[in-house]
Amino acid sequence: MTATIIDGQAIAASIRAELAHAIRGAGFARAPGLAVVLVGNDPASKVYVRNKLKASAETGILSFEHILPEDTKEADLLALVARLNADDTVDGILVQMPLPKHIDERKVIQAVDPAKDVDGFHPVNAGHLVSGMPGFVPCTPLGCLKLIKSVRHDLAGARALVIGRSITVGRPVSLLLLAENCTVTMAHSRTADLAAECRQADILVAAAGRPRMVQGDWIKPGAIVIDVGINRLESGELCGDVAFDEACRHASAITPVPKGVGPMTIAYLLANTWTSFRRRTGLHKLDPGT
Ligand code: NAD
Repeated sequence: MTATIIDGQAIAASIRAELAHAIRGAGFARAPGLAVVLVGNDPASKVYVRNKLKASAETGILSFEHILPEDTKEADLLALVARLNADDTVDGILVQMPLPKHIDERKVIQAVDPAKDVDGFHPVNAGHLVSGMPGFVPCTPLGCLKLIKSVRHDLAGARALVIGRSITVGRPVSLLLLAENCTVTMAHSRTADLAAECRQADILVAAAGRPRMVQGDWIKPGAIVIDVGINRLESGELCGDVAFDEACRHASAITPVPKGVGPMTIAYLLANTWTSFRRRTGLHKLDPGT
């Protein structure tokens, strides 16, 4: 078997194009606004923020960039978040993680107004997801689900394995798959026999941050494989959590790294910002279908 390569870059581009069409075509009094806060000098975070700002501009979302020095005090960051919460032109607030060690990330996440929490990390939004209520769902998990559904529409009854239990990726992915009526297993660093768990999975989502940990012969023939991992090897090369070449011989469909899940995360950040704008301006009531 040779797997279909799921083209995250193309799917993300079509989501961004639809958003741009909706945002630009509608002629609102103001554009949706996204505030992006970056603290410190983490090189990967700088690249992510740059890409997010570029994609916002191309989609017609106004972005407000706040680049703060590494030694920013926690109180000053919390004061900035409070100002952004109160600013009517800001629909979405994104504080790029990780934050420098002297700042408590949980405090910052909880300081963001849940109505502007386009990352979906606030406990109120996490609770909404658990309860099956409308709220903001984290962007990477939304992207994973869209990629799975690009190759299999009805997921009911499928056995899904999610490797990783972080609040930003693994847990919300599991909840989304459960809501799609999958039978979901969550694996993590203490799972006894990961290979055996993988071999049962019709849908496998790998989000552990361990380069090429999932071997080809762990994959059930015909499985859909979503590789969330982004790992930089000593050679400088990027790779995922799945041994891609081997996995292609077993899976029916698989995402590459890069150009798989990564672009989807940005597309859903923009989609969540647009949703926030529509909720905050009352527009969603006119269009309950989206
Ligand atoms: P994390 O470090 O918060 O969580 C990793 C999880 O993997 C943990 O729950 C841990 O229990 C589990 N794990 C670690 N080693 C394991 C092992 N040997 N076997 C089974 N499980 C193991 O990481 P995260 O923030 O959830 O990110 C995971 C990966 O996804 C990273 O590579 C990250 O860079 C990537 N990521 C990509 C995107 C994207 O847009 N593509 C977004 C977020 C994260």
